[in-house]
Amino acid sequence: MSTLAIETEKKVNWGTVVGIAILHAGALLAPFTFTRPAFWVFLTLFWITGGLGICFSYHRLLAHKSFKCPKWFEYALTVIGTLSFQGSPLSWVGTHRYHHLMSDTEDDPHNSYKGFWWSHMLWFFEYSPKFSNREFLARYAPELDRDPIHRFIEKYHWVAPFLLAGILFLWGGLPFLVWGFFLRTVAVFHMTWLVNSATHRWGYQNYDSGDNSRNLWWVAILGFGEGWHNNHHAFQASARHGLRWWEFDATYMTIKLLSLVGLTKDIRIPSQFNKA
Ligand SMILES: [Zn+2]
Ligand SMILES: [Zn+2]
Repeated sequence: MSTLAIETEKKVNWGTVVGIAILHAGALLAPFTFTRPAFWVFLTLFWITGGLGICFSYHRLLAHKSFKCPKWFEYALTVIGTLSFQGSPLSWVGTHRYHHLMSDTEDDPHNSYKGFWWSHMLWFFEYSPKFSNREFLARYAPELDRDPIHRFIEKYHWVAPFLLAGILFLWGGLPFLVWGFFLRTVAVFHMTWLVNSATHRWGYQNYDSGDNSRNLWWVAILGFGEGWHNNHHAFQASARHGLRWWEFDATYMTIKLLSLVGLTKDIRIPSQFNKA
């Protein structure tokens, strides 16, 4: 009886909870520290760390390999991804691939049947032996685990965000720290989390992907095209998530734009959309 109680006991990831609470508390200082330059720093870093770091790098490049780029550029993009404080590349990619494998089942880390707040953020407040286990995650992202430079970035993935916070404070004092670090990190958090919560709940489905994924225009705008999530679940390896002509996809546009200067190539698109 007592063994069973221990096995089913839920443990809280207190480190994560406290860290996220501190970041949100810092973001609450935004109205009192507003300056126009701080606002521009916020927007620019929202794009760099969210648009490039998460959507372009962690998601479409590392997790789905939907296009190729030079190795030096991939490493640089991975470091940019770490700036968003969303965990190490290996844990992000491993967990995300597992989400696609197990979408909206009991095994899905952010199973949307467990409610909006669970799939939005509560899922990583609870300690999970699986998703805290490096060996388990490495099974789902073996290429990151093998590469010595990725292993180095993995080991020190927490350094870059603190360094950025220090630079922002030295450069523009409290306004830059609050807007460029605290508020921006929190904004990128919720932008990413909405893809797991809102786009598994609201919006339309063009494809029978066998899960709750949906296309939701306002998450697509906030999230650099990631809101076309039903399209994404249907064509996971596609670099292009916005498949209809009006489904605006900023990340895909960036991938295409960078191909003009040779920074991206072998861009994967479902064959029926190749001409569009
Ligand atoms: Zn994905
Ligand atoms: Zn999903």
